Amino acid sequence: MPARTDSFDLGRLKLTSGEGRRLVLEVGLDALQFGGETYAITPDVVEAVLDISRTTHNGFALRLRFDASLRGPCMRCLEPAEPAVSVDSREVDQPGDVEELRSPYVEDEVLDLHAWARDALALALPVQLLCRDDCAGLCPICGIDLNAAARVGAVHAHEREPDPRWAKLGELKFD
Ligand SMILES: [Zn+2]
Ligand SMILES: [Zn+2]
Repeated sequence: MPARTDSFDLGRLKLTSGEGRRLVLEVGLDALQFGGETYAITPDVVEAVLDISRTTHNGFALRLRFDASLRGPCMRCLEPAEPAVSVDSREVDQPGDVEELRSPYVEDEVLDLHAWARDALALALPVQLLCRDDCAGLCPICGIDLNAAARVGAVHAHEREPDPRWAKLGELKFD
């Protein structure tokens, strides 16, 4: 297994303008915080595909792709969840006067792969981390796990408190 690459020297490739290279690198990922919970990343070292193209005027166009899973509590039912995330991120680093064209992950032609992978993963996360897409979650009234209730075929319901506005209407008398 190749060594973990946390930073990568792009200049070392000695690409000329218009040239490109595709590399598969092992990138380490740290556990991340989301919604007040800590999610471990599995695997914590992913095989990432890095596409590097040399642009004109000594710039780089970069693309990073990898798949990872997070392991932590489902945000709806709190049971263990392991949602998969696909990351596909692009960066451009074009030296010059235009600040927007500088990548925060490239410094002196050295790519901070670890920081980029961490941020790209965070940006690729779904709005909620769930055990499965259609997780029924917990009952908002009694807190029972509605997935478990559905598994045994039970329909979980509560008597609804009558709306006080309807009670008021009930007191009205119409002739
Ligand atoms: Zn769930
Ligand atoms: Zn309930």
